[in-house]
Amino acid sequence: MKYPGRYGPYGGFYVPEVLIPVLEELEEAFYNFYQDKRFIKDLQLLNRDYAGRPTPLYHASRLSEHLGCQLLLKREDLLHGGAHKVNNCLGQALLAKYMKKTKLIAETGAGQHGLATAMIGALFGMETKIFMGAVDVERQSVNVHKMKLCGAQVIPVEGGTGTLKDAINEALRYWTANVSDTFYLFGTAAGPHPYPTIVRHFQSVIGTEARQQCLEQTDRLPDKVIACIGGGSNAIGIFSGFVDDRQVELIGVEAGGEGLTAGKHAATLVAGRVGILHGVKSYLLQNSEGQIAETESISAGLDYPGVGPEHCQLKDSGRAKYVALEDEKVLDAFELLCRCEGILPALESSHALAWLMQQKEKFQKDQLIILNLSGRGDKDVGIVEKYRKL
Ligand SMILES: *Cc1c(COP(=O)(O)O)cnc(C)c1O
Repeated sequence: MKYPGRYGPYGGFYVPEVLIPVLEELEEAFYNFYQDKRFIKDLQLLNRDYAGRPTPLYHASRLSEHLGCQLLLKREDLLHGGAHKVNNCLGQALLAKYMKKTKLIAETGAGQHGLATAMIGALFGMETKIFMGAVDVERQSVNVHKMKLCGAQVIPVEGGTGTLKDAINEALRYWTANVSDTFYLFGTAAGPHPYPTIVRHFQSVIGTEARQQCLEQTDRLPDKVIACIGGGSNAIGIFSGFVDDRQVELIGVEAGGEGLTAGKHAATLVAGRVGILHGVKSYLLQNSEGQIAETESISAGLDYPGVGPEHCQLKDSGRAKYVALEDEKVLDAFELLCRCEGILPALESSHALAWLMQQKEKFQKDQLIILNLSGRGDKDVGIVEKYRKL
């Protein structure tokens, strides 16, 4: 490959040899097209007219009052599909088209990335296969149905624990056998090089917009930028706009689940150790023998044992800070945003808000904070209802 795809010691491409030429082809295509005028124009139009960009940077004044700071919400929840995932799917699917690929494949856990890929597959008229753990297919029947409505084929993966990591293994295996016409649309800023770079690029539109909007609306940069972390794509997307502004503090919030000591969680950066999974070296949740640990979170979208390599580097260098918040606090945060602003946040995004609530006493009134509201919470109402009776 032309580029090593390293973020410090993290990243790389630890894949079977048959996959190397495939990743090379993808790397070459990405670097050929991402600065191409026609490609940029095509993607801008899709982002504007199909996805609904730019998203507002909204001053949540009632919630600001409550928290004792000035809170700006980057409203990725208002995008088509209800989350930031469409940014990545449009970018990669357009790249697939420029590469003259006719078929898309993707992995999915909770079904959110699978559904976003199925939507774009329909939009582009591309045959779409979604690999999904058999257990997840059972658990997420509504999303499975929506993917089928968009014309995608959902392939249940029986091996392993029947969850996301098995779906990724199977999608990679299928890809090696079908590379000539098939593009693998990977869902987050992890996986083997060049995916972390590609996904960061297509999500960086969040940070670019947010920085410009913040300067226009407030005449200054924020003090802090906060986002939730699953694989790390929405967070790296917004962080990328501010990473060179050394005075802006970057905070990533992981899923603390039932608690870091007692129960299951998905706090990879906070509690993981370095290892290799799905072709990339990063922090990982693993047991004492190095086997991948089972993760759990109230928000299915954060439930992944790995994390993108750039976040690992940002953690080690101290440029970004990573914390974990437990399910109970996440539910409090979910309710607070509903009550104060009439906005139902995704449980994933509620993690970031939960950290803000915890910091409440420490703020000064004029502190300016941007929180990336990665998605809307309609999908989570049933879960919240189980825990909190009104
Ligand atoms: C998928 C998802 C996430 C987690 O994925 P990242 O790659 O870490 O951004 C967060 N929020 C929402 C709403 C999601 O759908």
